[in-house]
Amino acid sequence: MPKVELHVHLEGSIRPETVLQLAANNGVSLPANDLVGLKEWYKFQNFPHFVKIYVGVSDCIRSTEDIEFIAKEFLLGQATQNILYSEVTYTACTIEKRCGIPVDEQLDALRSALDWGKKALDVEAQFVLDIVRGDTPERAAQVLDWVSDNLGKGVCALGLAGFESLGTKVFADVFGEAKRRGVPVTAHAGETEGAWSIQETWELTGAPRIGHGVRILEDPELVSEFIRQGMVLEVCPTSNVCLGVFPSLEMHTLPELMEAGLAVTLNSDDPPMFGTSLTDEWIRCSEVFDWDDEVAQQLTETAIDASFLPDSAKQALRSKVAHSTIGA
Ligand SMILES: [Zn+2]
Repeated sequence: MPKVELHVHLEGSIRPETVLQLAANNGVSLPANDLVGLKEWYKFQNFPHFVKIYVGVSDCIRSTEDIEFIAKEFLLGQATQNILYSEVTYTACTIEKRCGIPVDEQLDALRSALDWGKKALDVEAQFVLDIVRGDTPERAAQVLDWVSDNLGKGVCALGLAGFESLGTKVFADVFGEAKRRGVPVTAHAGETEGAWSIQETWELTGAPRIGHGVRILEDPELVSEFIRQGMVLEVCPTSNVCLGVFPSLEMHTLPELMEAGLAVTLNSDDPPMFGTSLTDEWIRCSEVFDWDDEVAQQLTETAIDASFLPDSAKQALRSKVAHSTIGA
């Protein structure tokens, strides 16, 4: 089935095999230096451990060649899964800070990979450069500048991730400026924190899409408002289960979100770290929630509508995914 993915992280998609290879090439020491050990380290334990893995993986990236390599490998993985278009979150500020690679050079490497993906694999993607909650507003303003300078050139939006409990207030001015500049925004909220976080993040960022947002059901008024405003949730079920938001996929409220009339999309977040892929998400959800082709078509159309693509590209994508079936 041809697919579209709006919520997936580039650094969170690097295979353990590749992390080992990068670490060996670059003389970086990891908590494990064989595949079994590294896969064990990769396994999700809790959010702070997850952040540690994320930073450890980022530290293995030492050159623009590494960036181009991981981006190409990512695109190959998307192509193998028949994911025709992806919006990929990438934390350029962390790579700049920890690995010292200037952002312009990082973006050139990413663009080379995108060109290759289009020509060699017939898949397309754009990057969402994210602000990390915990960074300073000055740093966030820099990320905004990188996004606005590169919008339409491999970059499609400004993102917001990191420790959700820190809130969004400190970045209010940055997102106000993003709005003035017409920079599209998507923001993580309502995963480890409740509906208050979704409300605050939405009000302060003006994002038309919320990353996760699954805890919105805690606030029925906010649910009604989201439906009225045509807000879209980027739901990543296995990620939510790993983080303990729901005890199991069977207990996930994705069906309730859909029944309430909220617009949702299906995504993989950080696939190898959560032991999943977008294809796995579709298979698991289809089985557990008894989805049919109509649901698949609806969710894919929602993802295309909610993407940051221009209208002409959305139309082209719609015709490519039309009449697909879940079993195909
Ligand atoms: Zn995410």
